Amino acid sequence: MSEMISLQIKRKDAGKIKSGFPLLRKEAIVNPHVLKKEGQLLRLVTESGEFLGTGYYGKQNKGYGWVLTTNEREKIDESFFINKLSQALAYRSSFFQNLSTTAFRVFNGEGDGIGGLTIEYFEGYYVINWYSEGIYAFKDLILSALKKVVQYKGLYEKKRFDQQGQYIEDDDFVDGERAQFPLIIKENDVNFATYLNDGAMVGIFLDQRNVRERIKDHYAKNKTVLNLFSYTGAFSVSAAVGGASKTTSVDVANRSLSKTIEQFSVNQLDHEAHDIIVEDVFHYFKYAKRKEFTYDLVILDPPSFARSKKFRFSVAKDYQKLLEDTIDLTNDNGVIVASTNYSGFDMKKFKTFIDGAFKAKGERYKILEEYKLPKDFKTNSHFKEGNYLKVVFIQKA
Ligand code: SAH
Repeated sequence: MSEMISLQIKRKDAGKIKSGFPLLRKEAIVNPHVLKKEGQLLRLVTESGEFLGTGYYGKQNKGYGWVLTTNEREKIDESFFINKLSQALAYRSSFFQNLSTTAFRVFNGEGDGIGGLTIEYFEGYYVINWYSEGIYAFKDLILSALKKVVQYKGLYEKKRFDQQGQYIEDDDFVDGERAQFPLIIKENDVNFATYLNDGAMVGIFLDQRNVRERIKDHYAKNKTVLNLFSYTGAFSVSAAVGGASKTTSVDVANRSLSKTIEQFSVNQLDHEAHDIIVEDVFHYFKYAKRKEFTYDLVILDPPSFARSKKFRFSVAKDYQKLLEDTIDLTNDNGVIVASTNYSGFDMKKFKTFIDGAFKAKGERYKILEEYKLPKDFKTNSHFKEGNYLKVVFIQKA
């Protein structure tokens, strides 16, 4: 411990860290020159040398690392990781017992006490996401801890730390036995095909589980549904299982066609009864307006940033415009499910975009309900931006 280097933290962040803020912000560091190698453990101190906590150096776009403990006597060793992991598993015990849902998040970064690390469970297989080279330096410790607290069929990993914090292409298999793909998982009794060793994304975003369930059980029956930025069509399939009269999925990526057909097929649904359109959403708006297409339920869940041949989109700048176009395609009394995973603004700000869009269109609206991250995506109350998901069900009134 004596050789652990001291990282001085400026006053404002020192106060925040004392009360539980987990991030080492770049701007808060007095002596960044001591940071030499990612994965270094850091003794966090005030400018006058008072102990604040122990953290590690790991560069992400969010900051330079994370606080691991504020207890001066706590060592960062295998038992530290065993503790964190077993607490996280205990918190999800009801998920492990639920036979209707066999995929969920078991460890959610700073929400479970270790920023930069997430772990998801898929039918006996675990997928570890490493968000920096720094946390990856703890791989051996974390794997041996994990083996002591869970039994797994197999283990996969995603290294999300190239230059831009992007996924590094690799064989992601780590340990145990290899899964057969597609690996079919269940979510509230709906099947989803997943691929744990096929790039950064596995086929389903688990954070939307409650939204998909609500659409299936309450909003879809006998409705026409438009799913924009549909990826593998998970929202469309949920709507179809819930009795939608027809779904239309729109995504610009070529893979979305075969992936969406597959998600319908693994639920014994006839994909030919639905439209799956590989196209830029911005083009689709123009086309649908010209054809005067409208829908009862429109799901709008864009990526935070997107660039296509003709358009460049950022949620922060363009969400309101996107909503305005969506309003045009929504029937009177129809419902828009407006969603974003952008962490740069909160629900309050998101609602100003919603309000702005309806005002610009001269339409009235009613907010029916709101969703944030589900329980398994545990957040840290001192780190608001970790609570990134915002979903609002809006009725065009
Ligand atoms: N709503 C999806 C997740 C969306 S991920 C779900 O719940 O599963 C973002 C998707 O947006 C990706 O599949 C990407 O291919 C798509 N995309 C990005 N830019 C686009 C554009 N301009 N038009 C249509 N799709 C786009």
